[in-house]
Amino acid sequence: MVARQDQTTDPELLAALLQARRGTAFFARKLNELSDGELDGDSLLPGWTRRHITAHVGYNARAIARLVEWAATGLETPMYASTAVRDHEIDFGATLSPIALRHLFDHSAVHLNVEWRDLPGDAWHHKVRTIQGREVPATETVWMRTREVWMHAVDLDNGASFADIPAPVLERLLADITGAWKTRGTDAGLVVEVSDRGLSFGDTTSDTSTLVSGPLAAVVEWAAGRGSGGVTATGPGAAATNGKVPAAPKWI
Ligand code: ZN
Repeated sequence: MVARQDQTTDPELLAALLQARRGTAFFARKLNELSDGELDGDSLLPGWTRRHITAHVGYNARAIARLVEWAATGLETPMYASTAVRDHEIDFGATLSPIALRHLFDHSAVHLNVEWRDLPGDAWHHKVRTIQGREVPATETVWMRTREVWMHAVDLDNGASFADIPAPVLERLLADITGAWKTRGTDAGLVVEVSDRGLSFGDTTSDTSTLVSGPLAAVVEWAAGRGSGGVTATGPGAAATNGKVPAAPKWI
């Protein structure tokens, strides 16, 4: 007999699960608004059609479900055998018929949700390893999925925008992205300011810095490499390029 409710009672985790489920519902809504023919159209990601996005989001749910199964059983089941296998799977998935592609998204999302729901409270703390090689507790799988569904709903390029993404998701995404820059040392001379939240990130010590600022949704859109609408660049670094907003450093 399978439980119909989450096994965890941790309020913070339940709130995170809700955010992931809302993101999945949002992606589903944007996907359902597209006709089969429109799936062939370009996404916001270079070289990827909407088919690639949908296949990727479906296979991503399966990969994350493998991590949750790992946490549940203690038997190591990696997300993907390798990044090459993952990429090949996406290219293959993009060739599926529209109905198969839609089923892939729906079924994988339901499967992941069941794995989360049935994971016992203590197993959420078991360690698993992501494709980047990070050791994380199973709780992290919720954020990994949250960020995928919300952002890739925008990438479908049929009307969703970063302004549709809940502020707590945007804030955590920005912390992830600026953290990745810092780890790689690619944020030298760059300061990022979120004007409507009083947040700032980056290298405030440089006197030749470029200050990129704007409201939260616009700043995250820029930081994620999805365009520079609604952000401005100022400071000595920007003066040298007549205020042109620089491309954000890579983060993935
Ligand atoms: Zn992705």
